[in-house]
Amino acid sequence: MQKDTIAIHTGYDKKNGNGEMAVPISQTTAYAFRDSEHAANLFALKELGPIYTRLNNPTNDILEQRYAQLENGAAALVTASGASAVFYSIANIAESGDNILISDKLYGGSVTLFHFTLKRFGISVKTFKSDDASDLESLIDDKTKGIFFESLSNPQIAIPAMDKIVEIAKKHGIITICDNTVATATLFNPIKIGVDIVVHSTSKYTSGNGTALGGVIVERDNLAEFFKQNSTKYPQFTTPDASYHGLVYTDVPLPVFCLRARLSLLRDIGATPAPFNSWLLIQGLETLSLRVEKHSNNALKVAEFLKSHKKVQNVSYPGLKGDKYYDKAQKYFKNGLASGLISFEVESFEEAKRVIDSAKLFSVVVNIGDSKSLIVHPASTTHSQLNEEELRKAGVNPTTIRLSIGLEDTADLIEDLNQALNK
Ligand SMILES: *Cc1c(COP(=O)(O)O)cnc(C)c1O
Repeated sequence: MQKDTIAIHTGYDKKNGNGEMAVPISQTTAYAFRDSEHAANLFALKELGPIYTRLNNPTNDILEQRYAQLENGAAALVTASGASAVFYSIANIAESGDNILISDKLYGGSVTLFHFTLKRFGISVKTFKSDDASDLESLIDDKTKGIFFESLSNPQIAIPAMDKIVEIAKKHGIITICDNTVATATLFNPIKIGVDIVVHSTSKYTSGNGTALGGVIVERDNLAEFFKQNSTKYPQFTTPDASYHGLVYTDVPLPVFCLRARLSLLRDIGATPAPFNSWLLIQGLETLSLRVEKHSNNALKVAEFLKSHKKVQNVSYPGLKGDKYYDKAQKYFKNGLASGLISFEVESFEEAKRVIDSAKLFSVVVNIGDSKSLIVHPASTTHSQLNEEELRKAGVNPTTIRLSIGLEDTADLIEDLNQALNK
């Protein structure tokens, strides 16, 4: 099936139940088993079905099936937020003593997760130059369990050398994880270029209206084979799990990454989405591709305007000819579309704050991917927990303003930015 059909139909059979046209919300904590044997079979994975909503839920399941197919994956697991999806994707492959290689351009929340919280758990990180991945291979050691990057980074709006990252990872038998939140499944499918795991914050473009938090993890086909070939590096998938009566995940004929994340991480940590949030995200997914095209076209027009404005020092938007990442956007993203984020520089820190405070139509908000246009000053908000050195490394300047272009008419957006800049 084609993506626009998958986003609307996959995983739901209207002929079951009452024929509800909208996917029903299974707002329940637990499920009645037919009898004790049915219950035992479900726990032993001899039969598949919902047990308890922390582990699985029919509404969440439909969102999972749609995302798995939209990302050309084998399976998906939805989580309560993008942050928990990122955390689980790492916790599934690494433990104390291991290390993860991360892109130098990442979402602020992921930077703090990697540098502080995971560090407390004994998982260390090494940062690589994502623009050309020239130092990536030299950072790999026998404790390197994953390579993490964003296909279109927030807020630097950078596109990494993804083919090279994948090639190096494959050579060394290391799992790649791509955060595809900003590019979205509409514009780019990391699995198609050989990435192993895709994560999203569905709170952003999938929701589309800023109404629900959510995250998703998607795994590629045949990961079980990969883990068997690299079993000394990833024994948690190929050796008995004492916490699940000696289950060997690669022995189960189900996509193994999400299986383990569900049976051990969701079981023990439980960042499960509320079915109502999944339902909202299912509504959002139906129009994702239409919206992302419009966000991208709007953003290009606004970026062109900013580029022509004398008070704007520099505009980053990969859809813009001459942008540092223009060629990569053409190469990787559908029709060269580059989603809705723009960053630009003004003269000073004070000027940046003044422009933000003068905008009327743009809301000062740290979210992205909303139908409403948003403006933010990363250095004093999303990235304020980083010190000056970390900010510089993360590619965020005190003079950077980030826009998330919404679905309004661009004439109004441009007029608003123009008056804010000229004030
Ligand atoms: C927002 C965001 C996250 C975190 O997602 P939440 O849903 O806010 O927890 C992770 N990665 C990227 C690129 C994001 O933009």
